[in-house]
Amino acid sequence: MTYLLGLRLEGRDVLVVGGGRVAQRRVPVLLDAGARVTLVAPEITAALDDLAAAGRLTWRRRGYRAGDVRSGELGDFWLVHAATDRPDVNAAVAEEAEDARIWCVRADDRHASAAWTPASGSAAGVTVGVLADGDPRRAAGLRDAITSGLAEGALDARRGREPLRGVALVGGGPGDPGLITVRGRQLLSQADVVVVDRLAPASLLDQLPADVEIVDAAKIPYGRSMTQEEINRVLVERARAGRFVVRLKGGDSFVFGRGAEEIAACAAAGVPVTVVPGVTSALAGPAAAGIPATHRGVAQDVHIVSAHVAPGDERSTVDWAALARSRGTIVALMGVERIDRIARALIDGGKAPDTPVAVVQEATLPTQRTVTATLETVHRAVAEAGVRPPAVVVIGEVVAVARDLDILHEGRYDAFPALPADRSAATTAATTSDTASRGNRVP
Ligand code: SAH
Repeated sequence: MTYLLGLRLEGRDVLVVGGGRVAQRRVPVLLDAGARVTLVAPEITAALDDLAAAGRLTWRRRGYRAGDVRSGELGDFWLVHAATDRPDVNAAVAEEAEDARIWCVRADDRHASAAWTPASGSAAGVTVGVLADGDPRRAAGLRDAITSGLAEGALDARRGREPLRGVALVGGGPGDPGLITVRGRQLLSQADVVVVDRLAPASLLDQLPADVEIVDAAKIPYGRSMTQEEINRVLVERARAGRFVVRLKGGDSFVFGRGAEEIAACAAAGVPVTVVPGVTSALAGPAAAGIPATHRGVAQDVHIVSAHVAPGDERSTVDWAALARSRGTIVALMGVERIDRIARALIDGGKAPDTPVAVVQEATLPTQRTVTATLETVHRAVAEAGVRPPAVVVIGEVVAVARDLDILHEGRYDAFPALPADRSAATTAATTSDTASRGNRVP
């Protein structure tokens, strides 16, 4: 049996002997805990060197000498890590620490070590330490299971916690449940109420405890979706009743997400709001299809536009003529239904009709697919393929870059996609020579 302690190292001196891989793993954790770290080693890794150069630790560039632990010359240590690759040196350090009644962790020999470091991690405001009696891999596995259970809400961390208050505006990412941020997921696991949008990653809700109230802003009786005023009212009302509300949105809350309006409503009612950024479909959509939003020498700017109203519509504030003159990448959201008007506006503004276009439907979801064409042909291609929202439209030479590099990913999004084996005729509407002859490249 061991006795597990949580050491509060803030402002206390810790000695680390050795500057290799083991030290590199331990030192950042010690620094995070606020320890004053002295490192004794003739050589250290580049990452440790960066910490030393930034003044975050003191490095004595030499080998260990008897007396380093105890004499007080380097510091008065509360804890020692013997982390060299030489067992004889580690043994000498440990022995000196033992004599001085200072706890010493020996990395190379757990049986000879006075103290063991548990596998540790934190999630949902809880720090977890696991010692699996001599089996560090088992300990790490359990630690991962516990921290991910906490982060996902499979383990209910709400009981007895300091109550969270207010509203967290969480960007849920483009749809794949793996593409929400860690912070977003942690807050979700602590929610009392979740108000969720149609494009938010709904599969994350399955694991939440049964008593969490889920308000689906896309579906209310009578087939309507909630108006923004109704959503604002629910956020404020639930938060004022002392419940912690997560407003889960697709992508990022501030990219055509009306996030600021919800913040304003909460602020007016005195409800505190936290914002957690999300991975926006405007960038994740192209990326999931293998299309780089920018590319050296090709596109130095990216324009993210809402096409929920067509070019020329009096409600549109987008300067399509200026976009037509730009060499940058254009990413249009909410635009598939108006793709013909968009393409025509850009061509009318002077953009080459054979500018490559990709339309990525349901990016990052199992149903993801990509249709490629040119400005001139995209309307027909989209109609023929039956592309439906949600989809992002990517316009610009970067689409040709993806195709030329053979990284254009047309099928299902996958964390480790296989490169497409062959290219179908439909994807080669614009050839490499077309691209070059257009002279549309940024020098
Ligand atoms: N706040 C969101 C955008 C909301 S507007 C974000 O940052 O991603 C809704 C539009 O986003 C959709 O019409 C579509 O153009 C785009 N969109 C959202 N999720 C998408 C997905 N998984 N694949 C393709 N387009 C998506």
